[in-house]
Amino acid sequence: MPNITDKLNHINSRIADSAKNAGRSTSDLTLLAVSKGQPAAAISTAYSGGCRHFGENYLQEALDKQQQLHACNDIHWHFIGPIQSNKTRKIAENFDWVHSVDRLKIAQRLSDQRPEQLPPLNICLQVNIDEEESKSGISPVDLPELAQSVSQLPGLKLRGLMVIPKPRATEHEQRQPFSDAAKLLCRLKTISPELETLDTLSMGMSGDLNAAVAEGATMVRIGTDIFGPRQYPINNS
Ligand SMILES: *Cc1c(COP(=O)(O)O)cnc(C)c1O
Repeated sequence: MPNITDKLNHINSRIADSAKNAGRSTSDLTLLAVSKGQPAAAISTAYSGGCRHFGENYLQEALDKQQQLHACNDIHWHFIGPIQSNKTRKIAENFDWVHSVDRLKIAQRLSDQRPEQLPPLNICLQVNIDEEESKSGISPVDLPELAQSVSQLPGLKLRGLMVIPKPRATEHEQRQPFSDAAKLLCRLKTISPELETLDTLSMGMSGDLNAAVAEGATMVRIGTDIFGPRQYPINNS
């Protein structure tokens, strides 16, 4: 799949340009390749191109691919989709990061179910930054309380925030919700010693990458611009 390699190189240079424009170092940015709807072979190609962080939204699909890719044992797997309570055990057992935690109950289950021999599970709290109705994410006013509770859970390591803003037309407009998220993180870091070490802003997708990097994103999530259109059902042969 030479196409994936080309697209990956293109995204990496877009990230480098955004970083340069923002006066930031590329080494402070992690590309999270969102591989939902893509076969294991596509992940393998991106892995050969240097990707080590992959994001998945659907548990069973992710577990199938993890099994096929067990030889790539330095992949960091990120769960980025909505989480139902009955899925927390497998997520706690098979992922390195979860970006979509927005309730204490889910965080408690992930902490309780994280196997003892593994390091604490890295967590980003998903914030409903535009306060849209019927959208996932904790509301900004309720964030400090949730963050303080999550930071006490022994099986988890709270790392920061994840946002998916609503679409906006211009880069200038796109920067507002990312700036809001950066301020929220900044404020959280001051409210307790456990929160001082927060270091992650998971924000920016292909259409708003530049704006997100300008406002301090540390992890950008890109899917179709690396892999092309998603396929369902996935053809793994
Ligand atoms: C699917 C998804 C992405 C990637 O979307 P693309 O349009 O394929 O780049 C990023 N973040 C989240 C949370 C997603 O669910």
